[in-house]
Amino acid sequence: MKNYSLFLDACSQLISFNTENAPAVSGAPFGLENKKALDFFLTLAKSFGFETINYDNYAGEIIFGNGKTSADQVGIIGHLDIIPVGTGWNTPPLKLTEKDGKFYGRGVSDDKLPCLLILFAMKELKDAGIIPERTLRFFVGCNEESGWQDVEYLKTKTTLPEYGFSPDGIFPLSYAEKGMYEIAFLLPPLKNFSNIKGGTAINAVCANASCTAVDGAIIPSLLEKHNLKANGNTITATGVSAHGSAPHLGVNAFKSLFSYMADAGENLKDAVDFLFNDKAGIFNLKNEQGIVTFSPNMVKTVGKKTYLLADMRIPAPFDQNTVIPALNQFGLEYTITEKQPPVVVEKDGWMISKLLSAYKENTGEQTAEPVSMGGSTFARAFKKGCSFGPEFKGVSYHIHDANEQVDVAEVEKTYNIYLSALNKLAKI
Ligand SMILES: [Zn+2]
Repeated sequence: MKNYSLFLDACSQLISFNTENAPAVSGAPFGLENKKALDFFLTLAKSFGFETINYDNYAGEIIFGNGKTSADQVGIIGHLDIIPVGTGWNTPPLKLTEKDGKFYGRGVSDDKLPCLLILFAMKELKDAGIIPERTLRFFVGCNEESGWQDVEYLKTKTTLPEYGFSPDGIFPLSYAEKGMYEIAFLLPPLKNFSNIKGGTAINAVCANASCTAVDGAIIPSLLEKHNLKANGNTITATGVSAHGSAPHLGVNAFKSLFSYMADAGENLKDAVDFLFNDKAGIFNLKNEQGIVTFSPNMVKTVGKKTYLLADMRIPAPFDQNTVIPALNQFGLEYTITEKQPPVVVEKDGWMISKLLSAYKENTGEQTAEPVSMGGSTFARAFKKGCSFGPEFKGVSYHIHDANEQVDVAEVEKTYNIYLSALNKLAKI
């Protein structure tokens, strides 16, 4: 890759900013370190000769070309913020460290280093004298990991291109992301149990749940049957967490807790069958982009009412109307809220074709096909967005974990894919 030592120097500096979400201070909506990182990134882009815009430290933009309408523009979006570094690192997390053929540091995969790869690829094209027919508008956000306020703000200040990709997902590319819905089920009043608790986030399978039993409702044989523990009048259930988009990879702690209450005489038998044993056949609803998934992950109490909140993912062209007949069978009052609509890009349209051919040419994987995903990436910032790298299939990057890493040799390969992808996208 061209300008490699400059690139490494930029990586070191960018990774040194602790851009975890922090309280707003004057002019810095996500904390000072995010502001500094964005300043650094835009200053670097400016030094390469690009026009840049700072959207009040929510996000920045680097512009390559003169296209003024959505039809002659394409977007790219990545992010400079990180999730807290946490513990368990073998190297200093905020220091780019090369060791045993790998780079370590928070952001080497998600998403600082990929953002720099895009910027340096744009520079190489510019230095080669290329004038884009389709303008590249590269956005970098500072709030991807905790709420996407950066994208919300961007949308109030500019019209984003209709098409775009995010280097914050997977290779070869994902052309579709499921719609995300939250369903709040009102639980029936219980005679012998109260204070139901559990779940940490709507998008994570519940790993720990508990409730309080009245005297006499602690039944040792049932505790044993459902693998529960009791301490005084508190019953606890332990499961295994997993991403909300893949509930089959986890064990939901609510299932054993609610099954216990049903066996102990509460009017919950049907609810357990529908909520946890898929009696309505929700997981059988599927199309080319995958299955509908459903996972009750959290409890919320409002006054005397207790709600069980479920995460549901629905692939386009399905929507909530597809699942309502199934939900109506549960026998529970519920509300359904659309958190994110599904996105899908034409599989054989110009953008996917260009990205896929850049991937094939640089990897030799001629049979690579677009995939769909249940998770959500920054690609959704665009109406027709897809995620394109940086993660290769079967490689572990320890994203959101200690020892985030990427292979040194892979960085060059990823750079070449992005370079040729941008080159192709810049041509009409
Ligand atoms: Zn990310």
